[in-house]
Amino acid sequence: MATILPSPPKVGMVSLGCPKALVDSERILTKLRSDGYQLSPDYDAADVVLVNTCGFLDSAKEESLAAIGEAIAENGRVIVTGCMGKDADLIRAKFPQVLAVTGPHQYEQVVGAVHVAAPIPPSAYLNLVPEGGLKLTPRHYSYLKISEGCNHRCAFCIIPSLRGDLVSRRPDAILREAEKLVAAGTKELLVISQDTSAYGVDLRHAEWSWKGEPVRAHMTDLARELGKLGAWVRLHYVYPYPHVDRVIPLMAEGLVLPYLDIPFQHASPSVLKAMKRPANEAKVLERIRSWREICPDIAIRSSFVVGFPGETDADFDYLMQWLEEAQLDRVGAFRFEPVEGAAANSLPGVVPEEVKEERYARLMELTARISAAKLQAKIGREIDVIVDLADEEGGATGRSMADAPEIDGEVHLRDAHGIAQGDFVRVLVEDADEHDLFGVPLG
Ligand code: SF4
Repeated sequence: MATILPSPPKVGMVSLGCPKALVDSERILTKLRSDGYQLSPDYDAADVVLVNTCGFLDSAKEESLAAIGEAIAENGRVIVTGCMGKDADLIRAKFPQVLAVTGPHQYEQVVGAVHVAAPIPPSAYLNLVPEGGLKLTPRHYSYLKISEGCNHRCAFCIIPSLRGDLVSRRPDAILREAEKLVAAGTKELLVISQDTSAYGVDLRHAEWSWKGEPVRAHMTDLARELGKLGAWVRLHYVYPYPHVDRVIPLMAEGLVLPYLDIPFQHASPSVLKAMKRPANEAKVLERIRSWREICPDIAIRSSFVVGFPGETDADFDYLMQWLEEAQLDRVGAFRFEPVEGAAANSLPGVVPEEVKEERYARLMELTARISAAKLQAKIGREIDVIVDLADEEGGATGRSMADAPEIDGEVHLRDAHGIAQGDFVRVLVEDADEHDLFGVPLG
């Protein structure tokens, strides 16, 4: 019997404006073609039409609006991109039926919008890459990038100058990618960005439709919808803005892993101020206490910088006292290093290397002691573990809900016969050291 191959969706393009906009159109079409789309020379045959607009002069804006109107009248399924994308409110007010509006040079966003509007049908015969895309991680966990760039200007960081301000992806595009990853075997989604709590600020937390329901471009909505896909969902790089409190009940409900990766970097108010850290005014210790009341098993991971310019003995003692009280589950630390181009390099009060080393050693000793005590308290408990590696002799290594890959601890299993990478197993914890657990699968 002959195999009927699915025909790929067709994309139409109306390209207006200057040569730069033309190059943008070419890039977008090149990417879409390499993704498997066909190009349509007319409105009738197109499954979706892209209008790359120009907003340089009033006359150019009028021409762009007229082109959007024509594409809607002739085809109806229209995505707007280009310079007029900056006037998204105006376009949506005039043409509410437009499927998506993206700005100039937002190649990833416009291509993502096409994938949502006209998905490529999966075909083992046609697709050169698997449904979940090509991955450098093992099949059972995947990183899910929800935004690029950052609106903050932390004194030690050059990411905003390298990657620009925050640009969030549409929630429906993220959810579609997550759904494909889960269909392709991902069991754990690791949500990443520069600042996950700020997700959607640039989109003014607008709503998109996902499976017929409205989903805001907001961390809480996104976390809840990701949680419904049936994989573990782990949130990284969360700053403690007040709305983070609303994610904790999702953890208590089991939709999102009871795990928060919050890069506090310091605790002393004067160092945080010099660092220009976001959300440092929040009463963090109180909030950690209330999070633990709602979700007693929550694991909090963080990283800290010691020896930041101007850090005094008193600042460091404050940090150590804070860590004693916070009882964080996982801590990473760095000695401050000037990064070329960072504002912190010109701050006064450079801390001598030997002082940095001494503070680093004291901090690591304290946090290792806290970690060891917390892991000791797990001995005798049953926990869920995702298996990262399994050998033929019955040994296996996995992670609990409190452990992200590469950065946290591991759970070492004995007598794990018949268990494979990516399996979830219930484990009895038998022993612990400073960072890892040791146990045996049950049943
Ligand atoms: S450290 Fe994080 S929050 Fe601060 S500027 Fe860099 S990316 Fe943004």
